[in-house]
Amino acid sequence: MRLLVVEDEARLAHALRRGLAADGFTVEVAHDGPAGLEQARYGDFDAVVLDVMLPRLSGYDVVRTLRSEENWVPVLMLSAKDGEQDQADGLDYGADDYLTKPFSYVVLLARLRALLRRAPLPRPPVLVAGDVTLDPASRRVTVAERPVTLTPREFGLLEFLLRHSGRVVTRTEVLDHVWDMAAEVNPNVVEVYVGYLRRKLGRNLVETVRGVGYRLEP
Ligand code: CA
Repeated sequence: MRLLVVEDEARLAHALRRGLAADGFTVEVAHDGPAGLEQARYGDFDAVVLDVMLPRLSGYDVVRTLRSEENWVPVLMLSAKDGEQDQADGLDYGADDYLTKPFSYVVLLARLRALLRRAPLPRPPVLVAGDVTLDPASRRVTVAERPVTLTPREFGLLEFLLRHSGRVVTRTEVLDHVWDMAAEVNPNVVEVYVGYLRRKLGRNLVETVRGVGYRLEP
């Protein structure tokens, strides 16, 4: 089995290469994000071990780019972060599994073997409400299986509402999560964009809860 290890810490990269080679894998190493992406695209690997914090392009960006290109090579992400949010981010972007540094080599090996046994490759989760689907990895939205083109802001708003479907989100929450520089944005802009979404989707999925915010029915 051919593995790509994308890790900028030279000692860890060297230790992984040596250990995995001793366990019978063929191992290539890349030391930054762009090199890792390039090798993952063209190297025909069975799995990729991908650090999150990498020079020039993060592991998140590498895996998201691969998935947007419909490359489903199994990816095990490594991170020094241990917040739940970071794990969720990695998995949302299309990683298959996640290990927090420091990790034991034995655990890494077991997780890798589990990934390699899985077939067919699982696609990243697609968010669904009624006949509307949103794929965070490929950034595609469909209504009744028909593709719909959204602006990045509309896409961000729909993704946020889908991830919180069934509960009321306040306008402030929407602003904080979907708009950069939220403090400088007129809060009414949210209502305007909800209107755009309703029109483009041709569905009244998003309910306005007067004086509170919005709710998307799952
Ligand atoms: Ca790193």
